[in-house]
Amino acid sequence: MKLIIDSVSENEAFARTVVAAYITKLDPTLEELADVKTAVSEAVTNCIIHGYAGRHGEIEVVCKIKGKLIEVSVTDHGVGIEDVEKAMQPLYTTKPEWERSGMGFAFMEAFMDELTVHSKPGEGTQVVMKKEIGKEQES
Ligand code: ATP
Ligand code: MG
Repeated sequence: MKLIIDSVSENEAFARTVVAAYITKLDPTLEELADVKTAVSEAVTNCIIHGYAGRHGEIEVVCKIKGKLIEVSVTDHGVGIEDVEKAMQPLYTTKPEWERSGMGFAFMEAFMDELTVHSKPGEGTQVVMKKEIGKEQES
């Protein structure tokens, strides 16, 4: 599933709803759905607020299902991140004056099983998140 959206805030809710609908076939619990939606929201919001910083650009959301594993990638072609490791630290934000709390990456990491961030200053950022659906029911 590939979705290309404009970097406007209304599209954050749209993107998370599309991903949620796409993974419904795996019969996720409400908690798993909420986790994935939160993670997608955080990633898309980062593209809008940081990547494009209010300018217009395209955000690409790709979702793949492999068995019980979902992989969601969110990509922008915005400003990119200088130091990814630093940016991923909880409470680190470059926009404290905008009342950002610096918890976006921490939430993505907590709500998904795996989080990888690829970024190049001036080129953009790609966030890849993986999660196994249906783990709780089995154990
Ligand atoms: P919060 O998500 O809690 O509102 P935040 O967005 O600042 O605050 P994170 O989502 O954890 O916190 O991101 C940390 C920092 O990483 C951001 O402040 C920003 O500097 C950088 N960043 C994150 N995503 C992107 C992106 N897509 N493009 C450029 N910079 C980014
Ligand atoms: Mg954020």
